[in-house]
Amino acid sequence: MHCPFCRHADSRVVDSRTSDDGASIRRRRQCPACNRRFTTIETASLSVVKRSGVTEPFSREKIVTGVRKACQGRPVNEDDLAVLAQRVEESLRAGGSAELDAYEIGLAILGPLRELDEVAYLRFASVYQAFDSLEDFEAAINSLRAEREAREDAVRELDGSGTVDHAQEDPAPAGGASHLA
Ligand SMILES: [Zn+2]
Repeated sequence: MHCPFCRHADSRVVDSRTSDDGASIRRRRQCPACNRRFTTIETASLSVVKRSGVTEPFSREKIVTGVRKACQGRPVNEDDLAVLAQRVEESLRAGGSAELDAYEIGLAILGPLRELDEVAYLRFASVYQAFDSLEDFEAAINSLRAEREAREDAVRELDGSGTVDHAQEDPAPAGGASHLA
């Protein structure tokens, strides 16, 4: 890169150091023209483009702040929020795009939040997806319920003798497997 002092087009790396958390590399560089030294910091780029068009660096703290509101009064602690923000960042980075908008970030939050707390998920989704009727909530709740039942069925199968035939294996009255009929 250009020397920030004399604008010479090249510079030489004289020292490289990875930060303690491994998220960035600091390089000490020297300009071969004016011999002055300067430092560059290299990080994996991930920026957020705001509605106003302004770009700012991705921040896990902002994810936590955004989700914390939806988690008020829920059994979710700060560690849970930190883990969630980390998962969101990992999935965004895995997506490979260096610039993201609020919509993409919201989308990346929904999955992990749903696993963390369903009520918080519904609150967050209602704002994010702009729910404007009870039907929207109903649809979201029905989809959560269907997934939970699928999960419970899977667990039952693992717990049981391995047979998939619920009707014969579990002749329990009402409730239970009745929805399979
Ligand atoms: Zn220079």
